[in-house]
Amino acid sequence: MIACNENYMITLKPVGIVMSDYKDVDRVPVTGGNCLIEIFPEYKDGLLRIEENSHLWIQSWFHKAKRDILKTVPGKVNSNLPEYGVFSLRAFSRPNPIALSLVRLKRVKDNLLWVSGLDAVDGTPVLDIKPYYEQEIVFSPVTPYIRPLKREMRQKIFMKQALLHHQEKCNELLLGVRMALLADDHFGQLNSEELKLTVNGPPCLADVLQGLSNARLANPPRFRYNENNEMRQSIWEKNGGSLKITAKLPVTYDEFFYADDHQLFIIEFME
Ligand SMILES: [Zn+2]
Repeated sequence: MIACNENYMITLKPVGIVMSDYKDVDRVPVTGGNCLIEIFPEYKDGLLRIEENSHLWIQSWFHKAKRDILKTVPGKVNSNLPEYGVFSLRAFSRPNPIALSLVRLKRVKDNLLWVSGLDAVDGTPVLDIKPYYEQEIVFSPVTPYIRPLKREMRQKIFMKQALLHHQEKCNELLLGVRMALLADDHFGQLNSEELKLTVNGPPCLADVLQGLSNARLANPPRFRYNENNEMRQSIWEKNGGSLKITAKLPVTYDEFFYADDHQLFIIEFME
C-alpha cells in the first residue's frame, strides 16, 4: 500500500492553454464565455474523434486563485449570502484551484477547440479534457440555492440552463426564462420539491420550463402539461400560494429582454 499523507506530491503538466477575451478574473462571467483552447502539439493526438462530442468537461488550473482559503462567501453571485466551505462551492479559491467547467464544443481544427461556457480567464492552463456523457445527468439533484442578488445575473444563469436543456434559442425559450424569473421572485428556488408547475402551451415552452424547474412528472409529481398552441401559460404552486403567468401575445424578440413583466404577462397571485 502506498502511503498517502499530506506530503504526497503530485506533478501536473498543462496540456493546453485558454485564449479568451477575458483578461481580468473579475470580468469573467459566472456563466462563462466563448473561448479558444489551444492544445499543445505534443498532446494533439489525444484529440482524436473529440468532435463526436457536443459537450466536454474542461479541467483547468486557476493559476490566479488564492490557495489559503477554506471558507468564503460566494460574493460574485450575492454578497449577502452566508459563508460556505470551499468544498461546498464552485469558488475559484481553494487549496488546489482545479476548475471543472462544462462547455459546449463548437468547432475543432487541428489542435484548437472553440468552446462556449468556459469561465476561465485568458492564459489559464488546461489540465485535462473529458467528454460529457448523458448517463451522468442527474435531472433533479438537491442543491443549496446560491441565489444571485441581481435579477440580470439570474436571467443569464437561467438562459444558460435553459439552452443546455432545450438546445435551441427559440421564442418559447425566451418566454420561459422570463416566466421562470417571475416564479423565482415569488417562490425562490425553482427545483424545490414543494414547487409544482403546470404548463398550458406549446411543447417548446413546456420543455424549457421543465428544464428550468427540474420538475418531473412523478417521484415526486411536480409537473403537469397540457399542450395548447393558442396560449402560453405557466401556473406555479407552493405552500398554498399560486402564481399564474399568462403571456400577452404576440411579443417581439427584443421585448423578451427589455419589456417589463407587466408588459409581457398577465400576472395573478393567489394565497
Ligand atoms: Zn424551442
